[in-house]
Amino acid sequence: CGIVGYTGFQDAYEIVINGLRRLEYRGYDSAGIVLENKDKKFEVVKTKGKVDDLVAISKKLEGTATVGMGHTRWATHGVPSDRNSHPHISNNGKIALVHNGIIENYDTIKTMLIEKGFTFHSETDTEVLVNLIQYFMDTDPELDFPTAIRLALNEVYGAYAITVMHEDYPGVLVVARLGSPLAIGLGNQEYFIASDASPFVEFTKEAVYLEEGHMATISLKKGIDIRTIKGNEKITPQIQELKLS
Ligand code: GLU
Repeated sequence: CGIVGYTGFQDAYEIVINGLRRLEYRGYDSAGIVLENKDKKFEVVKTKGKVDDLVAISKKLEGTATVGMGHTRWATHGVPSDRNSHPHISNNGKIALVHNGIIENYDTIKTMLIEKGFTFHSETDTEVLVNLIQYFMDTDPELDFPTAIRLALNEVYGAYAITVMHEDYPGVLVVARLGSPLAIGLGNQEYFIASDASPFVEFTKEAVYLEEGHMATISLKKGIDIRTIKGNEKITPQIQELKLS
């Protein structure tokens, strides 16, 4: 299972697909991708099966975007299927999320969200998290996207590496980790995200390994903002030189 993300100026499709191939060794049963197109709308393609199966139905996305993310799934909640594949999209269509790990208390949150009128299209624990983020933003329109993610993460138990995008925050990727690894590659006017550095070593040798309980907001305009998920304390990024070739 793995996560790849990109924001910059290159073809996000190619970088995400090639990155997912580099992470195939980790094992998986489904694959998916979301790109933000030139009209700032999400294009989502996902399927049970291999990265090759994903490519077979998503080639039209090649060259259409400079920001996006992809996922390979190792099913824990809900059988391997097209519907249960990631990315998962919030009810209002604006938030996309990929997740490796498990949200232990998804059932309680799902019941609460259904009472508030949310509907669900998969059996995954992950779809609960993306809708919980929407719920926080709906409840307080002043709340910005990263803050809503932080509040949502403070309601969940479990293990996760996540990457999240919002249609109204073009070019921005928000990542968080607790119990699953996530690395950020720093390029020149571009950023890479991946479960390990192998998808981006060919592009940059500078990386920040996100630490346990931290989240990062990555934007081309503002750079990287790392915070603790619990206390919202600002963290100085520790940049590491990659030795891999
Ligand atoms: N628990 C999530 C699911 O079953 C994520 C699985 C994974 O780590 O790929 O969809």
